[in-house]
Amino acid sequence: MLIVGLTGGIGAGKSTVAQLLAAHGAAVVDVDALGREVIAPNGPAVLPVVERFGEHLRGTDGGINRAALASIVFNDPDELASLNAISHPAINALLEERIESIRSCRPAEVVVLDLAVLVESSLGRDTRFPYEVVVTVESPPDLRLERLIERGMTAEDARARLASQATDEQRRAVSNYVIHNAGGADDLAEAVAQLWQALRQLARERAR
Ligand code: ADP
Repeated sequence: MLIVGLTGGIGAGKSTVAQLLAAHGAAVVDVDALGREVIAPNGPAVLPVVERFGEHLRGTDGGINRAALASIVFNDPDELASLNAISHPAINALLEERIESIRSCRPAEVVVLDLAVLVESSLGRDTRFPYEVVVTVESPPDLRLERLIERGMTAEDARARLASQATDEQRRAVSNYVIHNAGGADDLAEAVAQLWQALRQLARERAR
């Protein structure tokens, strides 16, 4: 199995690329969703988060109230680091389980980790199955802003989100492949079809 880290700034088209790769046959693990799972009811990070940040964060369903947690860590790098120290090992452990189960139940040549904060964290790296190849999806900032506003974000929130993330230069520096998503859906599908061929070839070379 070739493990691929797929990243990109918010609104760049990363999830769309993940869906297209899945349609070609890749097994996709949504690592951002695992981040929500670890603090959902019965999630492994619920107790440690409550112990560190307070009982008031526990929602009525027993999981963590994400909006309340976000308001603590937003704009506070120390609190965010403290949360990440709890949540990231839990996410990586869950990720290992998922990759393990793909390996035993649904062998795939290519496993794609859909991972927004690849550059900003050690998610997907500090595991028994670290990603071996990195793909970044890029779109012009104006287009990303437009897409986020279309999704229902205010312009102010969208700008704040864009500014809080790693830059395209930082992502490019660790990437083996860059998808430029500045055209329409057909252009993106074509770029992903080419990427898929390259990833499959790499997976086969590694398997030899
Ligand atoms: P990300 O996961 O990087 O935040 P998404 O893949 O969710 O971004 O894309 C954001 C929005 O832009 C979605 O509504 C998606 O359908 C749309 N989109 C992405 N790429 C294209 C494209 N090439 N043409 C048209 N719409 C696109």
